[in-house]
Amino acid sequence: MTRIAFIGLGNMGGGMAANLVKAGHEVHAFDLSAEALTRAQENGCQTYTSVREAVQGAQAVVSMLPNGQIVESVYSADVIGHAPRSALLLDCSTIDVATARKVEEAARAAGYEMVDAPVSGGIAAANGGTLTFMVGGSAEAFAKAEPILAAMGKAVIHAGASGAGQAAKICNNMILGATMIATCEAFALADKLGLDLQTFFDISSKASGQSWSMTAYCPVPGVGPQSPADNGYQGGFAAALMLKDLKLAMEAAKAAGAKVPMGQRAQELYEAFAAAGNGADDFSGIIKTL
Ligand code: NAD
Repeated sequence: MTRIAFIGLGNMGGGMAANLVKAGHEVHAFDLSAEALTRAQENGCQTYTSVREAVQGAQAVVSMLPNGQIVESVYSADVIGHAPRSALLLDCSTIDVATARKVEEAARAAGYEMVDAPVSGGIAAANGGTLTFMVGGSAEAFAKAEPILAAMGKAVIHAGASGAGQAAKICNNMILGATMIATCEAFALADKLGLDLQTFFDISSKASGQSWSMTAYCPVPGVGPQSPADNGYQGGFAAALMLKDLKLAMEAAKAAGAKVPMGQRAQELYEAFAAAGNGADDFSGIIKTL
């Protein structure tokens, strides 16, 4: 049993904290939202009215927050210098590589070990404890983080040094954004060419057009496995979050001098989709614009 402070109990963090409780850990939770705190309490967490209170006496601190700015301010104001120095810090939010490295450096300078550990898998995987974690940090910090993350996921992979988890996450999601749009385009064209869409799925899911967007998350209602398309494109992975990840990838590509024309185009298309009022829809809903 480890005493774990958990900061950020939203769509993802709520289920993740509940899985830590199920695994036998003592979870001290904080979120700005009273509703999120009530849900955490129902799931067996002890709740607190500030980050500083939640991290007192913690052996590990896990955060699942919306963006890099919030992560930086929560760690610099209320975690670093307030949690015990022996506490392992794990940020599971999706944020930019530069901020992840900056927060880790500040934590290390104050005597803490920290990893960036963003996740792949949506709300269902967070609730079901089947997330994939990609972890950036030293080998020693990874060894300590692994058993904690394993209670919330099906795979925990060491990506490399600090920031490498975030790098892997945005590269992965850049593939996902581009392949989802390519898959949607292909279905739209197949339809216009008179192909039956189930037949096209049966062919392409076993041919070289196969991808996760096709076989695990098909954007066409009634075709392939159950997916947000079967639920009016509600739930799942919001287009606004896909846009956030694509923007992070574009910033990283610019800083690294990498050419990412498909990622760039995917960002433009998701930007237009979100600006038209579809940001809360699942990202596969972009098929409606094609
Ligand atoms: P969310 O908005 O549902 O949850 C974020 C929570 O953080 C909210 O409950 C909010 O009240 C809380 N919060 C904000 N500022 C805070 C502060 N200063 N102190 C304490 N709590 C604060 O978002 P989410 O969908 O749970 O996503 C969280 C992170 O996970 C994001 O970085 C996102 O990109 C990433 N992610 C999300 C998904 C997904 O499918 N939703 C998948 C993979 C990764």
